[in-house]
Amino acid sequence: MSFEKFELHAKIFAGVQALGYKVPTPIQLQSIPPILEGRDVMGLAQTGTGKTAAFVLPILQRLMQGSRGHVRALIIAPTRELSEQTHKAIGELGRSTNLKSLSIYGGVSISGQINKLRNRVEIISACPGRLLDHINRGTVDLSKIEVLVLDEADHMFDMGFLPDIRRIVKHLPAQRQTLLFSATMPNDIRSLANDLLQNPVNIKIGHTAPVESVTHHFYPVQMETKTALLKDILDKTDTQSVLVFTRTKSRAKSVALQLDRSGYKVTSLHGNLTQQKRQQALDGFRDGRYEIMVATDIAARGIDVTRISHVINYDMPSTADAYTHRIGRTGRAAKTGDAFTFVTGQDVSLVHSLKRVLGEKLQYQSVEGLTIRMPVDESPAGRRGNYGMRPNQSRRPFKPAAPRRRGSKQRSFDSANRQQWAH
Ligand code: AMP
Repeated sequence: MSFEKFELHAKIFAGVQALGYKVPTPIQLQSIPPILEGRDVMGLAQTGTGKTAAFVLPILQRLMQGSRGHVRALIIAPTRELSEQTHKAIGELGRSTNLKSLSIYGGVSISGQINKLRNRVEIISACPGRLLDHINRGTVDLSKIEVLVLDEADHMFDMGFLPDIRRIVKHLPAQRQTLLFSATMPNDIRSLANDLLQNPVNIKIGHTAPVESVTHHFYPVQMETKTALLKDILDKTDTQSVLVFTRTKSRAKSVALQLDRSGYKVTSLHGNLTQQKRQQALDGFRDGRYEIMVATDIAARGIDVTRISHVINYDMPSTADAYTHRIGRTGRAAKTGDAFTFVTGQDVSLVHSLKRVLGEKLQYQSVEGLTIRMPVDESPAGRRGNYGMRPNQSRRPFKPAAPRRRGSKQRSFDSANRQQWAH
């Protein structure tokens, strides 16, 4: 199955070709046809599945017909990064269409956005808070919206945005197409979908388990040894771009500082930075100036850096879903990737749940002098059985790669070897 089957406008097809997409991803295969027919769609899909193009392509197709110069499609996203990224995807896929999109989010001057809104814009990719601000000021007209997309709805729920979304929807025409994408389906999202979607086509892509193409290495470690272990892994592994996750903003900052002092090309991304600093960090990471980015969970969704070869959980995420979203940053669009997770005694029960999802793909690793015996799970489930691991025994012994010199490392992540979508 190729993109020709969708019979997209030649100018949109040109964008697909320019991005080098050959085969539609499963979410694209399943959702593009009903969206083109004008149906509402509820898509259960994790990040990295190609869901942005799954809704952007049919939106572009619809907007090729009809009048221009006013806002006809609205995409609501939880984070500035995701809003910016969707805007970028629209620009790339719609490069020949002359359709204009604008991203709207807080943390930057509102007057620049107001000026841009005065010029013709057909698509808005927005975060809820700033969009409401524009609605209240009367600087955006949503009365001619034909398509509404709620992207990463579960994340918007986590961030407390659902009341804002309901407020925004009151300003949209009742007669419209609504698409909702979410990696998980908590009850509040289900009831939002019941209220906003009409007779939707339900699409489910896989389980919310981390992408197939990623291998999961778990390192039992003590808090104070984490940075030494991180450096050891960075030195011995042939990496491309590495995303390191910490639990807190201050730890993201301090780990980045320690790596910087040791000569790594590193930046950090967390909520204490200004929008300008966040953008600089992302741009530098995306273009390869920084090989490592240390981030809090705000980076876990919406960052699309195709070169990410490794995700390292310096701190374990708080839930299995958060693990999925972090790991979704690597192995994107079926490229292979590796995930390393540092596990301390506090994390054992979450490891237990992940073990159930990942099964044999979860591999324990040990590094002499840096890892410890696997802490014992004191939870009732953990006491019942050893859930597949024994202290300090790795299924696959840690085989250090030949040490590489920073700045001159070879790239094993050969694009020619990247897997294509398998059907
Ligand atoms: P998304 O889940 O929308 O964030 O997309 C994840 C990544 O997959 C992005 O880098 C997209 O550019 C890429 N992608 C989307 N669709 C395809 C496709 N059909 N073939 C190859 N890559 C794709």
